[in-house]
Amino acid sequence: MAERAEKRQADRSADGHGPSGSDRAPPPGERAEVSNHEIVRHYFDQATERLGLRDDLAEVFRTSYREVQVQIPVKLSDGKVRVFAGYRVQHNGARGPYKGGIRFHPEVDLDEVRALAELMTWKTAIVGIPYGGAKGGVNVDPHELERSEVQSVARSFMDKVEKVLGPTRDIPAPDVGTNAQTMAWLMDEYGKLHGHTPACVTGKPIALEGSYGRESATGRGVVYMYREAAPQLDLVPSETRFVVQGYGNVGSWAARIMQQLGARLVGASAASGAIRAEGGIDADELARHVAEGGNLVDFDAEGVEQVSPVELLETECEVFIPAALGGMIHRGNADRLNCRMIVEGANAPTTPAGNEILEDRGINVVPDVMANAGGVVVSYFEWVQNLQHFRWDEREVNDRLGRIMRKAFREVSAKSREDDVSLRIAAFALGIERVVEAATTRGYIS
Ligand code: NAD
Repeated sequence: MAERAEKRQADRSADGHGPSGSDRAPPPGERAEVSNHEIVRHYFDQATERLGLRDDLAEVFRTSYREVQVQIPVKLSDGKVRVFAGYRVQHNGARGPYKGGIRFHPEVDLDEVRALAELMTWKTAIVGIPYGGAKGGVNVDPHELERSEVQSVARSFMDKVEKVLGPTRDIPAPDVGTNAQTMAWLMDEYGKLHGHTPACVTGKPIALEGSYGRESATGRGVVYMYREAAPQLDLVPSETRFVVQGYGNVGSWAARIMQQLGARLVGASAASGAIRAEGGIDADELARHVAEGGNLVDFDAEGVEQVSPVELLETECEVFIPAALGGMIHRGNADRLNCRMIVEGANAPTTPAGNEILEDRGINVVPDVMANAGGVVVSYFEWVQNLQHFRWDEREVNDRLGRIMRKAFREVSAKSREDDVSLRIAAFALGIERVVEAATTRGYIS
C-alpha cells in the first residue's frame, strides 16, 4: 500500500493531472474542468501500463471504431427551427454488438460520448456479457422542451443513425435525460423502417416488451456492490448512513433499495440543490415527490434542511453514492468527503486527482465500470427476452443480476489483491484483457 501511495505521489506531476494539468482545483461545489475523456484515458493508460500491453495494441483502443455525428433540426412550438447535434460512437465491438445509453443533456459533445462509449467496452467485459461498447447523445435539454418536441428530437435522431443500429449491430438504452418513454419512441421510429423490432433498444416500458427490473437495475446493482464491499469495512446496513448525489433514476433507486436493507438516507441532491437530515430522509417519499414533478429542494419533512452542494459532500456518512454527472469529485473537493466508502453510480464521477486524494485518505471506491453495470446487465436480459419473445418475472431478473454483479465484484477484488492495485485499475485491467483476447482471437488485431 505504502509503495502504491509513493508511486502515485511521483506520478502526480507527470500524469497531466498535476497542478499544471487540466484538473486545476475548481470550486468545491462545481464540476472539474477535466473532461470525461481525460478521466477515462488516464485510468486506461494506468491499467495498460500495469498489464504491459503493447503500445500498438493499446492504440487501437485509444480511438473509436466508428463515430457518427448528425444534425437534428426540429421545429419548436414557437415556430422556429432549432438545430441540435446528435452523436453515436461505437468504441469497440470485439465481444458482441455495440451497447450503450443515449444521453439528452445540453453539455453533450463528441468528446464526452467517446469517453462514455469506451467505458461501456470495459464495463460489458468486466461483467462478462456479450457486447461491445457504444454511447450516444444529443445536446438538448429535455426539461426546456415540450414533450412533443422531445419526441421529435428522439425520432429525428433515430432517423439519422438507424443505419448503424439494430439488434445485431448496436442497441441503445436510456441514460441521463432519457427514459423508457424515449426508448419507446426510438423503437417505434426504428420499426417504421425495419418492421417491429423490440430488441433494437432496451430500457423500454413494460407495455412494449421492456424487462421487469430494468428501471431499477442500475441502482440495484450499486446496492449489490455495496453489500459485497461492506463486510471488508465491517459495515452492516442497519448502521449505514448514506448520501446520494443526483436523485434521478440511478440515485433514487439505489436509495430506495438501500433503505429496504435498513440503511439511512441522510442527504440527497439534484441539479437544483441539496437537502439533508441527520435523522434520515424517507427515500420512497422523496422519489415520489420528484416523480410527481416536485423540486428536490422543496421536499418538506421533519428534520430536512436545505444545504449547499459542498455541505452535502461534507455530510457525515458511511457511504457516498455519486449518481449525477462526470467530474463531480475532484482535486478541489475530494478532501471534503466525510464517508468511508464511495460506490460510483454515475459514469466518470471522480477525476484522477480526486481519486488519488481518496486513495490517500483510505476511502474505499467501488468504481463506475463495475458499480453501475447493473443497467447494462438487465438491458442484456431484456434483449435476450426480446429475441426469444419471452418474459421473465422480476425475481428472476433480480436474482440473475445479483449473481452477475457478485461474480464481477469477486473477480475484480481478487485481481486487485493479486496485483496490489485499486479496484478501479483491477477492473479496467480485467476488462482490457478480455477485450484484447476477443479482438485477437477473431483476428481484428494480432
Ligand atoms: P437522470 O437524468 O435520471 O438523473 C440525473 C440526476 O442528476 C438528476 O436528479 C439531476 O438533477 C442530477 N444532477 C444533474 N446535475 C447535478 C449536479 N450538478 N449536482 C447534483 N445533481 C445533479 O440520469 P440517470 O440515468 O440516473 O444517470 C445518472 C448517472 O448514472 C449518469 O452519470 C449516467 O451516465 C450513469 N448511469 C446511468 C445508467 C442508467 O441505467 N440510467 C446506467 C449506468 C450509468
